[in-house]
Amino acid sequence: MITKDTLTEAADRIARVPRAHFIDGAFTTAGGDAGTIALINPANEASLGTIPSGTPAHVDAAVAAARRALPGWAGRTPADRAEVLHALADVVDANVDLLAAIEAINGGKPLAAASDEIPVVSDSLRFMAGAARTAQAPAAGQYAEGHLSYVRREPVGVVGAITPWNYPLMMAAWKIAPVLAAGNTMVLKPSQLTPLTTLVLMELAADILPAGVLNVVLGTGSIVGDAMSHHPGIDMMALTGSVRSGQSVAEAAAATVKRVHLELGGKAPVVIFDDADLDSAVETLAVAGYVNAGQECGAATRVICHEDVHDEFVAKLVRAAEALTIGDPAEGESIELGPVISAAQRDRIAAMVDRARRDGAKVLTGGQVPDRAGYFYPPTVITDVAAGSEMAREEVFGPVISVERFTTESEAIAKANDVVYGLAASVWTADPGRMLRAVEQLDFGTVWANSHLAVATEMPWVGFGHSGYGRDNGTYALDDYTRTKHVMLAMGAARD
Ligand code: NAD
Repeated sequence: MITKDTLTEAADRIARVPRAHFIDGAFTTAGGDAGTIALINPANEASLGTIPSGTPAHVDAAVAAARRALPGWAGRTPADRAEVLHALADVVDANVDLLAAIEAINGGKPLAAASDEIPVVSDSLRFMAGAARTAQAPAAGQYAEGHLSYVRREPVGVVGAITPWNYPLMMAAWKIAPVLAAGNTMVLKPSQLTPLTTLVLMELAADILPAGVLNVVLGTGSIVGDAMSHHPGIDMMALTGSVRSGQSVAEAAAATVKRVHLELGGKAPVVIFDDADLDSAVETLAVAGYVNAGQECGAATRVICHEDVHDEFVAKLVRAAEALTIGDPAEGESIELGPVISAAQRDRIAAMVDRARRDGAKVLTGGQVPDRAGYFYPPTVITDVAAGSEMAREEVFGPVISVERFTTESEAIAKANDVVYGLAASVWTADPGRMLRAVEQLDFGTVWANSHLAVATEMPWVGFGHSGYGRDNGTYALDDYTRTKHVMLAMGAARD
């Protein structure tokens, strides 16, 4: 549990954490920088200091270290690598509250939400540590006359990974765990807005990971991210972020024919049929739509509701939204909704809601930037959203739930699928047949029935369409960071 004392300890740690790249097993600021980047607590706009803005020279140094470390790390047995990842998970578990408190301060996250994220980090490390030891392949055998075939699963090489600000350490772990478990080495660039937990992880990992296995370069996407994507010494790029950033990475990576792993944005529809348990749906959506201030790629932000239960559902949702306690997470566990990450993000959300209003949508609650310090936006419910409009189709990435109506099952599915994204969706009904039909027809990488936003480390998290195609979690992630080599041994004829 995060107490006032933990928050004080976290503030102290933030002041002391090295503001430097982590290359070849040590923090360094050698090689100059492209200026500094300011870090800000979004709940009160207080300065959290600065970080150096890295350059292509830092990427060169990090890649060189990762390449040097590759043969040693790839050559270890999966069990040896697993021990290292378990040791890393142990130090994360020993620092759960501290890491969660730093995440809360740097990202404006309510304490309970931040506390839920860190155990996922260690769980991911432990799962991948074990999964790498059980990797499956076809049985060795004679598939061509006189030849024995078998498959070697090998690491891809040096992986470049780029993470977003909405779940900084959790998204880093979803890369670090499978990448390292599979025997790759890596260069990681955290979001320039939320690098602090990644830096603390490197402090904790310095004595655990061999030098060069995991390197961190701080900086912007346009300089450091771009240099990584173009770098001939990086074999594969993995990014969790916006569609635009994913497209940039894929374009740049094409020049050196790198493998690319993309986890991008979403606009998750929530289809509510007339037989749905509305209380259960509202209770879930008040969390799944507003958690992390709606800055969640699978957020339940777009409800498509049967016309017969529309008004009742909307009334319940508005009550639930208005019951949320908003404030600076540092005020304690009672705060359920914190600020969004930046002034720019808040203004983007406000502008989208204003455009929806102009398009004829009705804002039933929220919809106004409050007059207070911090980048707050209230939980908002919007109805009468025109099908095909920006609010119906584009990711808001804020605490805004929009509601559309439908009459027939096929209309509901068509509306739900009318987005370029394909990350996540949910369907709410008591009819098992309708549930199975909807699950089959919804064009999204995760589909929940009578639930939303539950995630399991063992199961894949993957998008379709513009949400990308990289698979996080499960043995699927491990496969994505491995290459398969077919070995054929000529057996010759028996010498009788
Ligand atoms: P963003 O794309 O702005 O930034 C993500 C990362 O990409 C940052 O580290 C950034 O510096 C870097 N970046 C930006 N431009 C780049 C470029 N040209 N080349 C290389 N790197 C570049 O995203 P964000 O605002 O930090 O995060 C929010 C977005 O992430 C949302 O769209 C959200 O849906 C998505 N997201 C997706 C998932 C998922 O699992 N699919 C999870 C979390 C967030």
